[in-house]
Amino acid sequence: MARTYGLRKRVLVTGGAGFLGSHLCERLIADGCDVLCVDNFYTGTKDNVAHLIGSPHFELMRHDVTFPLYVEVDEIYNLACPAAPVHYQHDPVQTTKTSVHGAINMLGLAKRLRARILQASTSEVYGDPSVHPQREDYWGHVNPIGVRACYDEGKRCAETLFFDYHRQHRLDIKVARIFNTYGPRVHPNDGRVVSGFIVQALRDEPITVFGEGRQTRSFCYVSDLIEGLVRLMASPEGFTGPVNLGNPGEFTILELAHKVIALTGSSSQVVYRPLPADDPMQRRPDIALAQRELGWTPAVPLEEGLARTIAYFRPLIQR
Ligand code: NAD
Ligand code: UDP
Repeated sequence: MARTYGLRKRVLVTGGAGFLGSHLCERLIADGCDVLCVDNFYTGTKDNVAHLIGSPHFELMRHDVTFPLYVEVDEIYNLACPAAPVHYQHDPVQTTKTSVHGAINMLGLAKRLRARILQASTSEVYGDPSVHPQREDYWGHVNPIGVRACYDEGKRCAETLFFDYHRQHRLDIKVARIFNTYGPRVHPNDGRVVSGFIVQALRDEPITVFGEGRQTRSFCYVSDLIEGLVRLMASPEGFTGPVNLGNPGEFTILELAHKVIALTGSSSQVVYRPLPADDPMQRRPDIALAQRELGWTPAVPLEEGLARTIAYFRPLIQR
């Protein structure tokens, strides 16, 4: 229930200085909201939101969501969590704490405020899926003790907490299962495949394909993903999700490597490296639920999104 006396909705974005969070803050301000961006700058940076600092409708707060937060807002987007495998595996205990304690703290805040709260969950809850494409009613195939478990199981537990707060405290929740998303401001050195390949190609360095490159991913451009999150937050109270948000176009990692080489005009060669442990072999969202309930379908094809992302990285790399 909004307690705002002004006309602007007050929105909290945790992880707001990260890749997705910074685009979301930008979008919410453009939509006329007052945005409180909370981040501990573990993987995000002030640079990502520097252009918003100075706006009377933007506030940046350094805070770790594993500690309680007392603020007054009308809506909460909970995005705080490192998303790239090298980042979330760097301090796996902290990753689980961020997902689990972070969810408890943000749900407690939402409960006190009776605020609507959205969780940025992930396709990783499906693990290395035995059902393809992945639908929301698939329970997943996750190794609970592997190197990816701190992230996968942390996000699964966060979903559990969201649904228990919904059932036990009638909290108004939304859960988005986000599939691989890319675009400007994705961290250049976090090992995620799209940014990694683009940076390697722009430097004419070898493109490191893990395994034989036959594993697949579906890549969603950031503007499409943000539109999906905003639509989900605005959806009727009865619709909680979980709902898949991603682009159903599916490509092998080797196909991606060749597309990046072609679009950058690079002289890079593909080199093969060992496949990391528990690396999912295939991933593609079934987005029928998002299409039906949110009227949402991604609009940016891979080539176009890659071209925009390359245009963002080119001046950074050639500086
Ligand atoms: P990112 O690493 O760029 O952003 C995460 C942000 O959270 C960073 O700014 C980081 O500093 C902040 N953060 C981390 N731990 C924190 C803590 N304890 N307290 C406060 N802030 C903290 O990653 P992203 O790609 O923008 O991902 C955002 C969210 O979306 C994450 O929850 C991630 O799990 C989810 N997600 C992203 C993708 C994707 O492909 N980008 C896919 C699935 C899910
Ligand atoms: N990958 C790769 N080379 C790289 C980085 C990643 O072949 O330099 C592969 C990785 O093994 C995985 C896919 O690309 O199969 C996507 O990896 P990413 O870390 O971006 O995200 P994931 O979907 O695995 O969380």
